[in-house]
Amino acid sequence: MTESTDETVDQPTTAAETGSKPEAQSETDQRGATLSKSNVVLRVDDLQKSFGALAATDHATFEVERGTITGMIGPNGAGKSTLFNLISGYYDPDGGTVSLNDGEITGEEPYNIAERGLIRTFQTPRKLEGMTVREAMMIGPQNQPGESFRKLFTSPGEVGDSERQNLADVERILEEFEIDHLARQPATDISGGQMKLVELARAMLAEPDILLLDEPVAGVNPTLANKLAEQIRRLNDEGTTFLLIEHDMDFIMNLADPIIVLNQGSVLTEGTPDEVRSDDRVADAYLGGGSV
Ligand code: ADP
Ligand code: MG
Repeated sequence: MTESTDETVDQPTTAAETGSKPEAQSETDQRGATLSKSNVVLRVDDLQKSFGALAATDHATFEVERGTITGMIGPNGAGKSTLFNLISGYYDPDGGTVSLNDGEITGEEPYNIAERGLIRTFQTPRKLEGMTVREAMMIGPQNQPGESFRKLFTSPGEVGDSERQNLADVERILEEFEIDHLARQPATDISGGQMKLVELARAMLAEPDILLLDEPVAGVNPTLANKLAEQIRRLNDEGTTFLLIEHDMDFIMNLADPIIVLNQGSVLTEGTPDEVRSDDRVADAYLGGGSV
């Protein structure tokens, strides 16, 4: 384990020190997150989750402001994916709360959380055997079907018009993502990068308030990564809030602001890309943590 020799010295290379924009109403809690944001879509408060003796999520506290693309970085094993699993209802926390649009969602089923406007994608997308891309789109994002999609399965008799509407929505979104040429291809035959685009497109069909993306460009070639970034920006301009985990620093630093840094299950700091980039504690966390 590598640690800097001056580990106890706090060097806040922050807005205050550099004289950049003042942060009037925000405050920073001891754990480094900027709290009291003005229009909060997602709030995680003192969240905890242990696997045996390992505290994968350790008193994590932060807020995501509506309309932002908020980034989340941290070394391997920092607890980023665990946090997503807790927020989206795939894991039950040992303590703490998660609130979405002012209502508490802690411990709710993924399905209910999706209905309430929070959709997430997975670091490793599910394989969609035996389906075309268009069919995969029809079942909605990752077992999180929206109301109209659910009816395809629960009340097939009622879907006449709405199914047509769904199909129209799918066609529209395939076009918007410039993947309509893939519609008839087996979903298992497309590239990893194309799959990530399909995942994002599927997630958008549920019209989420906030979309959580876990490493959307991992293993994606630069051309498709640019396309993903473009789509994320476009959707953000149209009003979708993003919480984005990404290992690719250039990608996330160009796209997200603010960026929350997670280390050993807790928020180490939060700031603009420049603030995070120049923060020695962040560099130390990456050196001391798992492989990068
Ligand atoms: P990150 O996404 O930041 O790389 P993870 O959230 O995947 O980190 O993992 C955080 C820690 O929790 C790691 O040490 C990992 O091995 C552990 N962990 C994650 N999920 C489980 C699980 N289901 N069971 C046991 N340990 C887990
Ligand atoms: Mg992960």
